[in-house]
Parts: sequence; C-alpha cells; structure tokens
Amino acid sequence: MITDQWFTNKIKNKSSMTEKFLKEAQKIWLALSTDIRRKILSNVWCGQCATSVTICDYSTTLEGGVLVLKGFCGTCGHKVARVLEGCDEKPKKPRKCALECYIFDIWLYGDEDCSDDNRIIRKIQIPGTKSLYSFAEVITGAFGFYLDHCFGFYDTLNIRKNSKKAFELFVDIGEEPTASVAKGVKKIKISQAFRNIGERMIFLFDYGDGWQFNVEFKEIRNFEKRDLKPVILESIGEPPLQYPPCEDEFEEGEA
Ligand SMILES: [Zn+2]
Repeated sequence: MITDQWFTNKIKNKSSMTEKFLKEAQKIWLALSTDIRRKILSNVWCGQCATSVTICDYSTTLEGGVLVLKGFCGTCGHKVARVLEGCDEKPKKPRKCALECYIFDIWLYGDEDCSDDNRIIRKIQIPGTKSLYSFAEVITGAFGFYLDHCFGFYDTLNIRKNSKKAFELFVDIGEEPTASVAKGVKKIKISQAFRNIGERMIFLFDYGDGWQFNVEFKEIRNFEKRDLKPVILESIGEPPLQYPPCEDEFEEGEA
C-alpha cells in the first residue's frame, strides 16, 4: 500500500540524491585548475549566437555520470550548456615508456696485455628491440669497420664450441654454426640476447682476423618515443684500422 509516508520518503531520497549529484559535480568542477575552468567557461557553444561564448550564471550537475555546465549565454542571454566528458577521470598515469634503450660499453684492448687503461671504448645506446644484426652494424660502424665478414656473439670465447649462449650470422645464411647452441642474429632482438645488466658477451667479428669486441650491458634507459636511432654516447681512444695499408702492401709483397 502506498502511503503518504512512502511519497515523502521518495521525495526526500530523490532530493538527497540530487544534492549528492550537485555536490559531486561541484567537487569535480573545482578539482579542475582555475585556468582550465576559465577556458571552459569562455568556450561554450550558443545556438542563438552560433558561436562560442562565455557562459554566465551557471551551475554544475552530473548527468549520467558526466559533468554538465548549465547557464546562460553572456552575449544574448539564451540558455546554454556544456558537457564535460572525462572530467571525473583520475589524472592519467604517466604514459608507460614506449621504448627501452640498452646502453653498452664496447671495447677493444689497445695493447697485448689487455690492460684496462688502454681500452678503446665506444658507449652505445640502442633500442632493445633492434636485432643483433643491427647491433653488429652499429658496433662495427662505431669503430670505423666495414661489416664485410661473418660474426657472432658469444658468452665465452675460450672454447667457443662450449658456449652456452651464442648467436651467429652463419645460422641466418644457412651455414653450419661453429657453436652448437647458436641461434641467428637477424631475428633475435638485443633484449632477447642480453637479459641482465652487467652481462658481457664477446662480439667476434671476422673469423679470419678474429676481432674480439667486448660487449658489456651497462643499463637501460626509457624513452617515450617509439623509435630512436642508435647513438654513440662516448668515444674513448683511436680504433685500429681494419685494413692497415702497410700490412696490405706487406702481404702483397709476400705473395
Ligand atoms: Zn548567445
């Protein structure tokens, strides 16, 4: 049975709900910066004026969870309203970094004793999404070498066959790898080959001349961009010539 009391309660509930909406709307509205509020207030569409106008004598309310401004056109006095979608959303979290760049120290020893003081070093920043093949291009380029020979990355060189981790171009070109566990270099990303900061590998370039570049994974830097070109961050020491002219002459003289 519907009683007067029922009506009274219903009306009470309804007005308290409306009040709640108004309070909530006011809260959301005031949470916006003064600057943004000012911009919104001065940019409300008036159908009568057929342009954006400043809203006057406005109130805020929530309609379907969306903040709505209702008021009057500051120019002609016509009723105007503006819906502010997305205003009740929490401030957006900082966008997840789109790109992880790997920082490596790569060096050749400048003397036979392999002393740390005489290292020829290139610090390289390269997206972890690049392939080991791209990495090889960057390394050889950074030392002024041509990428004109086969190469591989190894976790050990003492007994290459026993490497636990190895990546060789041979695999990609359909030749027999020198290390049985070897994977290719064209499809493997840097981030798949280097897992832990501090990890070292040897980049063995040219199986004839046997250039051994030491590669140490130093750190990861995050960038908001989706793609970045590899960068040489630091260069220490003059690299040896890949093809020293006098040696060539000497070999030619011998032949
Ligand atoms: Zn107007």
